[in-house]
Amino acid sequence: MTYAGVEIGGTKVVVAFGSGPDDLCDRVRIPTTTPEETIGAVVRVLETRRQHFGLDAVGVATFGPVRLDPKAPDYGHILPTPKPGWSGADILGPLRRLGLPVGLDTDVNGAALGEGRWGACAGLDNYAYVTVGTGVGVGLVVHGAPVHGALHPELGHLPVRRDPVLDPFVGSCPFHGDCLEGLVSGPALAARTGRPGEALAADDPLWDLVGDYLAQLAATLTYTVAPRRIVLGGGVGQTPRVLSRMRERLMFWLGGYLPALQNSQAIEAYLVAPALGESSGVLGAIVLARRALRAHSESR
Ligand code: ZN
Repeated sequence: MTYAGVEIGGTKVVVAFGSGPDDLCDRVRIPTTTPEETIGAVVRVLETRRQHFGLDAVGVATFGPVRLDPKAPDYGHILPTPKPGWSGADILGPLRRLGLPVGLDTDVNGAALGEGRWGACAGLDNYAYVTVGTGVGVGLVVHGAPVHGALHPELGHLPVRRDPVLDPFVGSCPFHGDCLEGLVSGPALAARTGRPGEALAADDPLWDLVGDYLAQLAATLTYTVAPRRIVLGGGVGQTPRVLSRMRERLMFWLGGYLPALQNSQAIEAYLVAPALGESSGVLGAIVLARRALRAHSESR
């Protein structure tokens, strides 16, 4: 079987083909411009592939917010977003016209599924994937399935405890100011320092603050969905000092309440870096394609 994984990000789309990490090939990058241009380019890449090599199903992991309820009239459309031109954009329609099974989920749920199938959460059925970059996103898998409800989780906007003496920055989220995303995302770091996050030195003390806020998210995840493991990905998340500080502060925020997470060895196994590196998302899209094909076969 040949699957296409399509990862739609705010600045670029990645398309790759294969059945898993061992045979993932022909990675194509397409800049994210207007919805018509971007999705049109994706459709052309998929059509070409199908003509020359065949294609059995497509999986799409996209930035959101996006409607994931298959019964909703706007299933597969982007919901109101500050991203110019993308509010209401139909992601799924043009891809479905290829006549192949198409699976759809958010970029972070996709990345979670990728790590769950082949990466840091392989063999687990309850886990979370946190990404910190342009924004903060959380993918959640519970009983093996990505969590959707009225919408999908938007835990990046979690209110967190900020000490205004230690951290006088009021936050950069246009909706909430000092929510988690408003304090630790790439744009928040740029607003704090006047320099992009990647320009900060590896030992900058600001990373400790970032790790503390992310530890509060990890504590919330621990108390709400009791994941078996939490993966920290994304550009900011890959800074080693952030992960180590987050582990220390998670123990602090749990305050000894959960005996299983009271020692540093347990925390190191619980809160981890991605095992698939930058490929979690596109491999997650491959998982969505596999699931779509299976659902399609079962429905016939
Ligand atoms: Zn917010």
